[in-house]
Amino acid sequence: MKECNLKWIAAFAASLTLGVLLVGLLGQPLSAQTSTKVLEVCKSASDEISARDLPFRIEEGQCPAEEKVITNGRIGSALPDRGQSVHVEALTMTGAQELEILHYDDGAIELKHVGNDSEVAQSAETSGGFSATGPNECRDSGFANLDHSVEGGLRYYINLGTKPRELTLRSTSLAIRRGGSNITSTRNTCRLGDRVTAGLAYAGRTRLAANVSPGGKCSGVDQTSVVSFGTLPRGVLAVACTSSSTSHGPNRVVASDIKIARGTVQWTTNPGARSCKNKFDLESVITHERGHTFGLSHVSERTHGNQTMSTRINGPCESSQRTVGRGDVLGLDGKY
Ligand SMILES: [Zn+2]
Repeated sequence: MKECNLKWIAAFAASLTLGVLLVGLLGQPLSAQTSTKVLEVCKSASDEISARDLPFRIEEGQCPAEEKVITNGRIGSALPDRGQSVHVEALTMTGAQELEILHYDDGAIELKHVGNDSEVAQSAETSGGFSATGPNECRDSGFANLDHSVEGGLRYYINLGTKPRELTLRSTSLAIRRGGSNITSTRNTCRLGDRVTAGLAYAGRTRLAANVSPGGKCSGVDQTSVVSFGTLPRGVLAVACTSSSTSHGPNRVVASDIKIARGTVQWTTNPGARSCKNKFDLESVITHERGHTFGLSHVSERTHGNQTMSTRINGPCESSQRTVGRGDVLGLDGKY
């Protein structure tokens, strides 16, 4: 019996030593290898990398993408600098897509909202109409948050020189300003009071353009928030790019640009007019985009179709999304 015990102890000790050796030899180099290995997709010569081919989180050095655009379907953005994040959203005639890229101080990158709001686009095509589904806007408490919020207030400029022919200077400026205040004052038909303390201030006209390429990608964001009109891919109504600081505490918005399609979309500021035909209400679209500026994400069109932050605008000659729904208000109240 004694001999047996000794043998067992010797065998146990040997296996323990082997185990320690294995951990020492293989464990560390393996984990080190994983963290520094450049992801295959990031080695491609293409200027664009699809977020759908990347993991949710990328450690420092795994994806040298400084010069590249990260895409999610038709939208995308240049990789923000360390310590910054960018949220990009495109609102189309049949749906919407968004992507959030967070670049932390330690070099790690996180990707959120990757995928396609295609269920929405499909339902729009199959139903052939724009009528919203889901509960009444005042009975629906649904909302979704983005990581960022506006601290205090945000100043922005409008490039009125780029306005489309079908709108006057005055009506363009008013619609864009009202679209912003619909969010900051939580304008609603549900008798819910305004509790949002953060503000949005119109700082005047500019000749600067929103940092959005004709292809609808965020092309690097500066410190100045601009709303301008210009070329966007067919079917896209507007693209919003919001950049935030990820360095200290909660992500604070640094700038938020909105580019509105010119030429491929007909705009109106009077959607209730009898003469309105296939024109989109500028104020409604801006209200939705300002929801993103202030940190709201999308809710499903199918189950929350009457909320301003649902993924589909309610159609041409329609102004219902000028007012926010109960869920939109609750989302904003929770943030501010
Ligand atoms: Zn949106």
